[in-house]
Amino acid sequence: MPMSNLSRRDFLQVTAGAGAFASLMPPAGHAADPTWQPPAVGAGWFDKPMRWVQLTLVENDPGSFDPQFWLDYFRRLHADAATLSAGGIVAYYPTDVPLHHRSAWLGTSDPFGTLVAGCRKMGMHVVARTDPHAVREEVHATHPDWIAHNADGQPRRHWANPELWVSCALGPYNFDFMDQVHREITTKYKIDGIFSNRWAPQGGDCYCTNCQKNFKDATGMDLPRTGDRRDPARRAYVAWRKTRLTDLWKKWDATVRAANPEASFIPNGPPDLKTAGELAAIQFTDNQARRGVTPPWNNGRRAKEYRSVMGRRPIGGIFSVGLEEAYRWKDSVQSEPEIRLWVAEGTANGMRPWVTKFSGVLYDKRWLPVVERIYEWHYAHERYLRNETPLARVGLLYSEQTSAEYPGIAQGDRHEDHVLGMYHSLLESRIPFEFVHEAFLTPDRLDRFKLLILSDAAALSDAQCRAIKDYVARGGSLLATFSSSLYDEEGRRRSDFGLADLFGVSFDGRVEGPMQNSYLSLDTDTATGARHPILQGLEGTPRIVNGVFRLAVRPTADFPSPLTLIPTYPDLPMEDVYPRVGHTTTRELYLREIGKSRVVYIPWDIDRTLWDVMCVDHLRLLRNAVEWAANEPSPAHVQGPGLIDVTVWRQRDSMTVHLVNLTNPMMMKGPLREVIPIGPQQVSVRLPDGTRPKKVQLLTAGKTVDFKIAGQLVTLTVPSIDVHEVVAIDL
Ligand SMILES: [Zn+2]
Repeated sequence: MPMSNLSRRDFLQVTAGAGAFASLMPPAGHAADPTWQPPAVGAGWFDKPMRWVQLTLVENDPGSFDPQFWLDYFRRLHADAATLSAGGIVAYYPTDVPLHHRSAWLGTSDPFGTLVAGCRKMGMHVVARTDPHAVREEVHATHPDWIAHNADGQPRRHWANPELWVSCALGPYNFDFMDQVHREITTKYKIDGIFSNRWAPQGGDCYCTNCQKNFKDATGMDLPRTGDRRDPARRAYVAWRKTRLTDLWKKWDATVRAANPEASFIPNGPPDLKTAGELAAIQFTDNQARRGVTPPWNNGRRAKEYRSVMGRRPIGGIFSVGLEEAYRWKDSVQSEPEIRLWVAEGTANGMRPWVTKFSGVLYDKRWLPVVERIYEWHYAHERYLRNETPLARVGLLYSEQTSAEYPGIAQGDRHEDHVLGMYHSLLESRIPFEFVHEAFLTPDRLDRFKLLILSDAAALSDAQCRAIKDYVARGGSLLATFSSSLYDEEGRRRSDFGLADLFGVSFDGRVEGPMQNSYLSLDTDTATGARHPILQGLEGTPRIVNGVFRLAVRPTADFPSPLTLIPTYPDLPMEDVYPRVGHTTTRELYLREIGKSRVVYIPWDIDRTLWDVMCVDHLRLLRNAVEWAANEPSPAHVQGPGLIDVTVWRQRDSMTVHLVNLTNPMMMKGPLREVIPIGPQQVSVRLPDGTRPKKVQLLTAGKTVDFKIAGQLVTLTVPSIDVHEVVAIDL
């Protein structure tokens, strides 16, 4: 298709102009139905299932696996929805779509249909799983135009199974062929939805003739040959790819809904989270287990990320039961404590459990009773697990565009490390918090929070900066670190912070670091002779270690001066290790009160350094900064030994405080060997105004608990937590 109404000159102005590019681009090729609308929030069946199961069949399962074994297991799990292998790479039903490969073991059987019927009998919802990312030689020979091509023009063999070819995700294979497959499955079995795995391009960009032509028609450009984000063709490609996937999502959804109005297309992984927030009735996080050096809270983090766009729409947490390392032992079984902790982190953060298993024939069955116990607990306490509204008062900005557009301000500086450090510090400080997505900075989303945190949120548009300023003007508080707002939404550096007025400082253009052996002086206020409360807990020392990177800034307002720079000095030889400058007036912490708001700006990488070296003084300082800026009591306070993830929720007739015990020698690198119970924990909970507690229970301990009440504050003791305890308060 030519560039329709946009001339090439207009187009270039648009692309140079702003991030609105994607929405202005004329849809290419197979345009989605313009009348398509996303499902209404709360509509349909999507919010009903609380426990999900997924069985992904392998090609030789038909005839050798026992469907009744799985149906019995689903019943014992009290599962209310299943995702079952239907088609794509292999069809597990007698398909009539040409080139849709029936399992070589299928014969006259219909294992998909058998499982669907069995699940329906138990009242379960059923979603059909398809995987379109690979095809057989027959498809390659008949339709070479359906195959992804490498930059050298060669068709792409599958990286893990060279007998297969990788399909092109953005052309007729998905838009036409898979569309027919989805229509057939939905029509034949009246399932509740189609869930597609690996539906976006696999194995790199595609240079097939369709992609070349469609991209040229849409943008006037040739496909990019560089990964450089500043290359105009690369920028255009990133936007075009997202538009194509969004069109594909809408097309498949329209097809599925035409065959069954109650059904929907559900992608495994949206083009980006903003799109999920705009289109999805339900989403699933494919974060099956941890691998390498990953803390167990990473599963809860993913739940928070999705909630930042999905709000109260349901989020399922896909977890595997195997050892999820790079070597992909898909038939393995993980340790029981590891599975329990991973799922608990998701549940405590508002995800519904979704166990996934590959292969209908089981070799190692040790996971079966483990998952059964988790699901039984979940079923027994279901009414407290519809975690309707988080009561956290701290919001941490989730900036997808900073991750995508901003490479870091210096070699060795990475945005994600700042966020991980901030996440860990909030969790270790037991401060309940949520993510706030950059695309939805509206008062209804922001004003639930007393404090918004920008953890090196470098890339912010003018409009986003304005929304944050408005939030502060309405009484919200702000804590920002390092490069926050120093770049625009496309990653171009501004001459000064977009939020310079709020911070009360201006960037003077210099970045220092990585710094060796630099410190921070903890200073007393010259007028009062006392230290600022933000230094509480650091009484025993005149100084603490500095971060590794710092931005040089100039104050443009009046500030107290609790923390000042001690510049780097030699760390070798030992004879030379003494400060050349013992004290400066260079502030490294900027605290302001503006009306009802408090604003903290920290010009060094406190969050990144915390993630890097886990310095306990930095943890203390960050926690104090959050508490000072929030300037109100936390909705829940938990005191006692150990590392605990604390989340607080309101349901219609109750509220809950989840306590997940992360205290374990295998915290940072799993799998857990054993559960190490901790306790006792003193818990105080602030009840919503106008409510009184009727009954307080510990769900895992399975008993009611004595409590005291003073005003809206309920206090109680949790004697011990093994993996996951929930304080449930009936109101
Ligand atoms: Zn292609």
